[in-house]
Amino acid sequence: MKEAEDIYKAAQAQLNAYVQAHEMRRSQVRNMVLEQICRLPQPFTAAQLEEVCKAERISTGTVYNVLHVLIEASLVRPYDRGIGQTVTEYELVTEVSRSHMQIICRKCGRRTFIYDKALQRLVMERPYSNFNIQNYTLVVYGECKICRRLAVKRK
Ligand SMILES: [Zn+2]
Repeated sequence: MKEAEDIYKAAQAQLNAYVQAHEMRRSQVRNMVLEQICRLPQPFTAAQLEEVCKAERISTGTVYNVLHVLIEASLVRPYDRGIGQTVTEYELVTEVSRSHMQIICRKCGRRTFIYDKALQRLVMERPYSNFNIQNYTLVVYGECKICRRLAVKRK
C-alpha cells in the first residue's frame, strides 16, 4: 500500500529526529515496530500490535518498550473513544495520516474510525484539476446507538 509507506516515511523521520535529540541509539527493531503500527487500522490495541509483531519475531517486552518510546516521542497517543471504552487503544500521530472516515456522535463525542475501500477509491480517483490528493479524513457527525437508545428511553 503506497499510503502506508508514505506514513511510515513521515513517522520514521519524526522518530529519527526524536532519537537524535535525545542522543539515543538508533534501533532497527524500533523501526520495525513503527512500521507495523503504520499498517494497522487506527486506533489499535497493544494486543493487536503484539500479534502482528509476533509474526516478525519481535518479543512482547520489546513491543511494550518501543510503544513507550513512541508515546514519549509524541508519535503515538492514547486514543479516547469516550464512553464504552474498555481497553486502552492507541493512535498514530504523524503529519501524514491514513485516509479514513470518522463518525463522531454529537452528544457523547464517541469517535469511530472507518476504513471504507469503496469510499477511498471514490475520493482518491476523482480528478481535481491542479490538485494531487495524498490522503483525506472525512468527518461525519450524528448520533450513536447508545445515545439514541437513551433518548428513546427518556420519552
Ligand atoms: Zn453518543
